[in-house]
Amino acid sequence: MLGAKVRTPEIAILGGGIGGLAAAAFLHRAGLRSTVYEQAPVLKEVGAGLVVAPNAARLLRRLGVMGPLLRSAVRLDVGWEFRRWQDGTILSAEDLATACERLYGEHTYTVHRADLLEVIRRAVPEGTVRLGRRCTEVTVRDGRPSMRFDDGEVAGADVVIGADGVHSVVRGVVADPRPAAFSGLCAFRALVPGDRAPSFARRRAQTLWIGPGHHLVHYPISEGRFVNLVAFAPAGDDSVESWTARATVGEFLREFEGWDPRLVDLIRAAETPGRWALLDRAPLPRWSRGPVTLLGDAAHPMFPFFAQGAAQAIEDAAVLSRCLAEDAADPARALRRYEALRLPRTTRLQAVSHARSDINHLPDGPGQRARDTSFTETDPLVTNGWIYEYDPDVAMAAEPAAG
Ligand SMILES: Cc1cc2nc3c(=O)[nH]c(=O)nc-3n(C[C@H](O)[C@H](O)[C@H](O)COP(=O)(O)OP(=O)(O)OC[C@H]3O[C@@H](n4cnc5c(N)ncnc54)[C@H](O)[C@@H]3O)c2cc1C
Repeated sequence: MLGAKVRTPEIAILGGGIGGLAAAAFLHRAGLRSTVYEQAPVLKEVGAGLVVAPNAARLLRRLGVMGPLLRSAVRLDVGWEFRRWQDGTILSAEDLATACERLYGEHTYTVHRADLLEVIRRAVPEGTVRLGRRCTEVTVRDGRPSMRFDDGEVAGADVVIGADGVHSVVRGVVADPRPAAFSGLCAFRALVPGDRAPSFARRRAQTLWIGPGHHLVHYPISEGRFVNLVAFAPAGDDSVESWTARATVGEFLREFEGWDPRLVDLIRAAETPGRWALLDRAPLPRWSRGPVTLLGDAAHPMFPFFAQGAAQAIEDAAVLSRCLAEDAADPARALRRYEALRLPRTTRLQAVSHARSDINHLPDGPGQRARDTSFTETDPLVTNGWIYEYDPDVAMAAEPAAG
């Protein structure tokens, strides 16, 4: 890893979400120090669940955080269980209990986001994270980046990693600073207490109900204490103006009027839902400029229809830390290698995630019938093997550092 005489670079990470903290943790594991600047006064995640696919679980295990995460994670037996909106007919389902480990050497889990963030935070050395630091500008002068914060403080570093999410400030350094576009879709998220959830929703299963213009995903989290609901619906014209992070159960129910009564009952049992705009950004042709780069949603926000956004941020973190550790003498070159290793994969994921929204939301008719038939003809665990079998160590061995 680090050569004896090479000065270790000062690394600044902007953003303390899953991606930023994973970067700090992987850098620490690779023998590099970093400082994370997070705008919020505390580290927090939205009160919702997350699917940890085998490609993410593999890296979390390498980071040493799978043990503590498993105390609350749910190991799925069934995944991608697609059901018809009207009557719950199962169109397709994956046997994760046996196939997942056999194919990928790892299982698929569901977790509460706060639990994931907390176990990653514990893998970051004390004193790494500086809270309440909102970066307003990143500039590069004579090859050295500096960051300005909203209280006027200016800090320098050898490398700046923008892990500051879909509204990234750092993105403007490497690409057109245009704001993210509104996708026209919104996401409802809610938790249902396990004791109020019907038994079909308490199974160790990730279920997707698909129908015209909408779909809803549910799975248990937190040892089954909650069932996580996430649903996608058209945002509607007036919602753009009155956009809030809160919705009512009534608004959520209205979107699923006429759907299978079992699903309607599940929504009715939900705690206060949140409602978010789904933003859209075209893939970037590059993520790095000199000593500045991007990671996670700042680099490649994607529709959540393959449940891969956080997994890709974790993969970025694992690859980036190794690139910097193996080429500490030339961080800009290390960042170019990181970008070359990662960009084609995340671009492909952005594309397939985008396409999935049309497929999941087909109106009833010939297209929908063809889709439903195709479910029986393909095995997504095999078709999507390129997503789940990815191992950064293997990818990097195929393209070693130039220096
Ligand atoms: C409905 C939905 C469901 C999803 N489900 C899944 C799933 O099942 N599995 C999965 O892998 N992914 C899923 N994703 C995607 C996943 O949530 C994101 O890809 C992931 O959280 C991105 O992490 P990040 O660290 O890159 O960005 P963020 O989580 O957005 O973190 C960015 C951090 O930067 C901070 N910040 C922002 N600006 C500044 C600034 N100027 N200065 C300092 N700090 C700043 C923010 O406060 C925040 O803490 C889902 C997404 C959605 C919307």
